[in-house]
Amino acid sequence: PTHHSVGLIIGVTGIVGNSLAEILPLPNTPGGPWKVYGVARRPQPSWNADHPINYIQCDVINRQETIQKLSPLTDVTHIFYVTWSSQPTEAQNCVVNGNMFRNVLDAIVPHAPNLQHVCIQTGRKHYVGGFEDFGKALPYEPPFHEDLPRLEVTNFYYTLEDMMFEEAKKMGNLTWSVHRPGVIFGFSPFGMMNVIVTLCVYAAICKHEGTKLRFPGSFAVWDGYSDASDADFIAEHQIWAAVDPNAKNQIFNCSNGDLFKWKQLWKVLAEEFGVECGEFEEGLNTSMEEMMKGKGPVWDEIVRENGLAPNKLEEVGVWWFADVIMTTDSVLDSMNKSKEHGFVGFRNSESSFVNWIHKLRAYKIVP
Ligand code: NAD
Repeated sequence: PTHHSVGLIIGVTGIVGNSLAEILPLPNTPGGPWKVYGVARRPQPSWNADHPINYIQCDVINRQETIQKLSPLTDVTHIFYVTWSSQPTEAQNCVVNGNMFRNVLDAIVPHAPNLQHVCIQTGRKHYVGGFEDFGKALPYEPPFHEDLPRLEVTNFYYTLEDMMFEEAKKMGNLTWSVHRPGVIFGFSPFGMMNVIVTLCVYAAICKHEGTKLRFPGSFAVWDGYSDASDADFIAEHQIWAAVDPNAKNQIFNCSNGDLFKWKQLWKVLAEEFGVECGEFEEGLNTSMEEMMKGKGPVWDEIVRENGLAPNKLEEVGVWWFADVIMTTDSVLDSMNKSKEHGFVGFRNSESSFVNWIHKLRAYKIVP
């Protein structure tokens, strides 16, 4: 069959990569029919193998391997860059993530004459600084909009943007878009920051041990307004930007377009797992990281009893990330720019939360 577009997803087993792998090959996807290449470091997991894509196992930190495995993909028309590597410091994040992006660009740009567009996914930390700078005074009043000037801090998102801008200037006809989601609700059990998988594992352990679902977060997060970015929604936003002329060479926030309070989703989570819902506890001096210490064997038992896909607790429970979300005052962004450029998509965050839980259950990642 002849394809109209050829997508290359870097990070195809990640939280958004897996959504792109599912959505791009669908018959009605804009810009289609799409042929899809998907790159990730590990062998293809079974839950990703359902998608009709060409899977390439490649470590994009390794320059030689990346050039060798990706430069033969001469038919690529669009790159979806949805990966990152977590380093001990933000300065190292800049170096390593910069090298990864450089390697991918150098493997594709000179060899793929029909390359048209590159989407890069960064995030809302663009406006507040990296995890190192969290909790410090907020530089800008939320809701954040896309033209706020950069902060004077080190942030690997700035490195990626600058590389993209420079490459586009050099190439002339290559277009780009930058997508800045907030906390992502999605599926991948391989994601380095998946709050849904983490909370499901937490709830399953509470259920198993007969304890209530305690909320080890701040009152501001419990009772304040938060938002989220659904992974399928982000994928649709990126595909829109990849094919719609109105979105070329633009930066966009990327959030669902509604608000919720974590105390509401906490109730939903408790109902989904059949546990008693905890309330906000004044002065609760603990964290999920603390509460889940030593629970590896409990999780192993849950996996065994429920015939779940074999996963270690350290792989599926990203406690530090859940703790950051539950203790950091939520900062909202604005979706006006996307709407003004013609993207009117949205998600119902509570339905999104429930749908991902059900999908994780269907794939036997959680009980
Ligand atoms: P992820 O952790 O879910 O997935 C990363 C993917 O990249 C995986 O497929 C992984 O196998 C692959 N990968 C990692 N290192 C690789 C390497 N060296 N070579 C090849 N493949 C490699 O990714 P994500 O959370 O979507 O992160 C992408 C961007 O989105 C990051 O900049 C992140 O900060 C940002 N972001 C994430 C969230 C969130 O809640 N997860 C929220 C806002 C912004």
